[in-house]
Amino acid sequence: MLQEKTNIRVTPTQHSKISQVDWENLPFGKVFSDHMLMMEYRDGAWQEAEIMEFGSFSFHPATSAIHYGQAIFEGMKANKSATGDVLIFRPEMNARRFHESCERMCMPIVPEDLFVECVRKLVEVDSNWIPNRPGYSLYIRPFMFGTDEFVGIRPSETYKFIIFTCPVGAYYSEPVNVKIEEHYTRAAEGGVGRAKAAGNYGASLYPAKQGQMNGFHQLLWTDAKTHEYIEESGTMNIMLVINGKLVTPSEDSDTILRGITKRSVIELAQSWGVEVEERKVSVKELVGAIKDGSLTEAFGAGTAATIAHIAKIGYRDEILELPPIDGRTFSNKVSAFMDAIKSGEVEDTFGWILKA
Ligand SMILES: *Cc1c(COP(=O)(O)O)cnc(C)c1O
Repeated sequence: MLQEKTNIRVTPTQHSKISQVDWENLPFGKVFSDHMLMMEYRDGAWQEAEIMEFGSFSFHPATSAIHYGQAIFEGMKANKSATGDVLIFRPEMNARRFHESCERMCMPIVPEDLFVECVRKLVEVDSNWIPNRPGYSLYIRPFMFGTDEFVGIRPSETYKFIIFTCPVGAYYSEPVNVKIEEHYTRAAEGGVGRAKAAGNYGASLYPAKQGQMNGFHQLLWTDAKTHEYIEESGTMNIMLVINGKLVTPSEDSDTILRGITKRSVIELAQSWGVEVEERKVSVKELVGAIKDGSLTEAFGAGTAATIAHIAKIGYRDEILELPPIDGRTFSNKVSAFMDAIKSGEVEDTFGWILKA
């Protein structure tokens, strides 16, 4: 039986590192806040969560996750409003997705309320680490892995759930060039593509590197069986504007990660009266729509960049140029609105923001 304990012990650090931070130069993911949250699973139950000084810990060489890959993660952001409120973007969605990743990877679930409370409490403790300048935010990284000290393939009986945070600078994402990948596969039906499982990202590095050597920032993944349908762009969901409609591959198959940014863009589009189609999108349709001019916008959607405009798409021996970024009315408007709602500049009529 799972025991739900929402009691979180806080042991504050005596050595804050905040004065050493160079706020003008914040590389993504390299500066860590003072505290982390840790919670251990053993004897069939989650033990008390503890917020402690951020730091390294030691591993037994047989730690199961390192060998057999029971490791999952999440990513989300918090911002500070002009009046100093701490705003976390849709953490309950990350909690639900984490729950699903746990189930798929045969790991004990973290109750969603507990997940959100752990995130909220940690962000509250390190709220002075949330940059309050435009475009900056606090990136939150919850993750969990099997810790059995045992060489043998079976679900681990012990786990660590940890959250740390990183203040991050404005993510000036250059428009990206992506290559339609027709050989390598990110996720196959029946596999773990829908889970934010660590191995998915390890598996994508080699094909991504091949693409980078040919001048592409990312791959546009296609389905494993036929390579005829597009699925995702790198580690972002792919969204297109074709004939004025917002088009994105449907989530019916378990090969597409259920992005929270994508879901938010869809809800936003619907609220603006933009028609949305979640359906299969073939390579043929995409290439045809670029060539006949009916495709006006293409972008990746994900927490890190929010919106990453796609400038060029490589298809076999061709490089297809997409319309200029300046003229992309929809994605530029979405990008501005998302920044504004996350930082409390516009009223949260969607119920997306948790005030910590
Ligand atoms: C995390 C992720 C996304 C984006 O999800 P968000 O919730 O919007 O950050 C999309 N695709 C993959 C493969 C991912 O890992």
